Amino acid sequence: MLEVKDLIVNYGVIQALKGISFEVNEGEVIALIGANGAGKTTTLQTISGMLQPTSGQVLLEGTDITKVPGHKIVSMGMAHVPEGRRVFPGLTVLENLKMGAYTRSNKKEIGDAFDRVYESFPRLKERQNQLAGTLSGGEQQMLAMGRALMSQPRIILMDEPSMGLSPIYVEEIFNIIQEISKAGTTVLLVEQNAKKALAIADRAYVLETGNIVLSGDAKTLMNDDSIKKAYLGE
Ligand code: ATP
Repeated sequence: MLEVKDLIVNYGVIQALKGISFEVNEGEVIALIGANGAGKTTTLQTISGMLQPTSGQVLLEGTDITKVPGHKIVSMGMAHVPEGRRVFPGLTVLENLKMGAYTRSNKKEIGDAFDRVYESFPRLKERQNQLAGTLSGGEQQMLAMGRALMSQPRIILMDEPSMGLSPIYVEEIFNIIQEISKAGTTVLLVEQNAKKALAIADRAYVLETGNIVLSGDAKTLMNDDSIKKAYLGE
């Protein structure tokens, strides 16, 4: 479904990605784990068209999207939930969700998307008229995920959805990611919480200073001694 080939991304003299390659198959949950500054956010931003790579390719269902602008990539079936949520604080929950459907003009389709998002996130329905800036951190994360789902993506990229959330919300967010996957959306998940990410992922890639150093079946990686030591705090 998604193929990343030899991606190099530079910020001035800093090489954030040093030629990474990986793939995500349809229906999979793929975790991308790694320490601070490893290049996880850069990877997602390059895939979704927010950043241009120095070289390399991103293919979505076989189509080269490397030079396609972000808003067009959304209409091709990919949504990105950015790090730090980035909801529109001065707009209501409902207005934020509507923004997520900007690629759609068919009222019935938008209505269906609202129904689906409210089914996954009943709390957003209860709070549809509340300003997004006044939601709790966990609720804002749900809104950011709900907003991405409004475009009815076939693949969703999520950047650190559990960041800064209390354990109860972390649990809830990971449950929702599993539900999104079960409903048929492919998931590429970037997480610092490697334990939780590996627990729900099919496969994972480990990124270290711009290189993929390890990859494999999530359950196997969970039992890998170097992973346990470096990322699972064991
Ligand atoms: P974190 O978990 O801390 O968000 P990350 O794995 O997502 O880390 P990136 O944010 O992708 O890492 O950063 C990769 C490297 O690129 C880091 O060394 C970072 O300092 C650098 N970097 C990121 N954004 C920029 C930028 N806009 N300008 C210069 N350097 C940047």
